[in-house]
Amino acid sequence: MLLDVREPREWDAGRIPGAVHVPLGSLPTRAHDAIPDPAVPVLVYCAHGIRSLQAARYLQALGCDDVRSIAGGTEAWRASGLAWEAPAGSRLTAEQSRRYSRHLLMPEVGPEGQARLLDARVLLVGAGGLGSPAALYLAAAGVGTLGIVDFDVVDVSNLQRQVLHTTDRVGLPKVESARATIGALNPEVRVIAHDEMLGPGNVAALIADYDVVIDGTDSFETRYIVNDAAVRLGIPVVHASVYRFEGQLTVFDAADGPCYRCLYPSPPPPELAPPCSVAGVLGVVPGIMGLLQANETLKLLLGIGQPLVGRLLLFDALETTFEELMLRRDPACPACGDVARSLATPESAPATAAPTTAPATAAPTTAPTAAPATAGTFDLPWPAGPDRR
Ligand SMILES: [Zn+2]
Repeated sequence: MLLDVREPREWDAGRIPGAVHVPLGSLPTRAHDAIPDPAVPVLVYCAHGIRSLQAARYLQALGCDDVRSIAGGTEAWRASGLAWEAPAGSRLTAEQSRRYSRHLLMPEVGPEGQARLLDARVLLVGAGGLGSPAALYLAAAGVGTLGIVDFDVVDVSNLQRQVLHTTDRVGLPKVESARATIGALNPEVRVIAHDEMLGPGNVAALIADYDVVIDGTDSFETRYIVNDAAVRLGIPVVHASVYRFEGQLTVFDAADGPCYRCLYPSPPPPELAPPCSVAGVLGVVPGIMGLLQANETLKLLLGIGQPLVGRLLLFDALETTFEELMLRRDPACPACGDVARSLATPESAPATAAPTTAPATAAPTTAPTAAPATAGTFDLPWPAGPDRR
């Protein structure tokens, strides 16, 4: 076994992989627990080989047969280019430690969680009413890479709720406006601007490199396209939609949760789901739902809490109520159902397993008007488009 006898702060700064840590001063009380079998060969190290030599002599006196000290300690070890493990927290710079100090104070995030966020890649589909607050807070939280798909330009009517954008940027591409805002908030966030329309032909390439996709689109067709590709690629989707004073939120976990097609096997008739440009929306509603999307995304990235998988959260802004419905995976779902799963692997045959357009043909085994796979007989309101326009 490898035994590190340095002080805790030296250990925290980095170590030889697989080592057990017992500071030299603690050896008399902890040696027996650390080395229960004196016949096991022990390799002791410290920074320069002096403390480890003392430790080796002490262990020999205790009856350990095969104890050696690494001459030159960790300095010589690292100078030789041998394996070294830098703990995640030590990767944070002093500036990062200040910026994210409120995260670092919480054990659920801490230096390792923050490092995970800095390494994370999140794709926002839409830089509108939902994508704006989500992007702002994810950037503030230190999510290292934010991809943004949006082919639109900033319109003055967007500014009532799309807080990524500003009056002086009317007419500019939304992805460029988003990049400017995010850069001003947190310059170390890498923004990847996808100034293009997401469609069946480019969706896999667009989403494949991301850990989580935030669906903030206002188009049913786009939602199905994102859903089907995410199921195939095994990428979780944090979905929200808004309609006037109402919002919906859920997380589609590609591994075993239901997907968007389980919830809505086919799109509603247009008259039942008018976009925000027709129906209107209270500006704060996408703000609230977009922040809830950011919250679910951070939980997924950090592996904490209970993600909103298999649960649909309904928000009513006029009553200020949240309701929750249970969602179940539909075994007959053309995207994530049993047949689709048996036919498709993440790399193969998307077109046959999960058609990406025309839900009428995509769901041969599901009646287009079938009730969503909820726990009860609750009538779900159709989600209208969030409001990119
Ligand atoms: Zn499904």
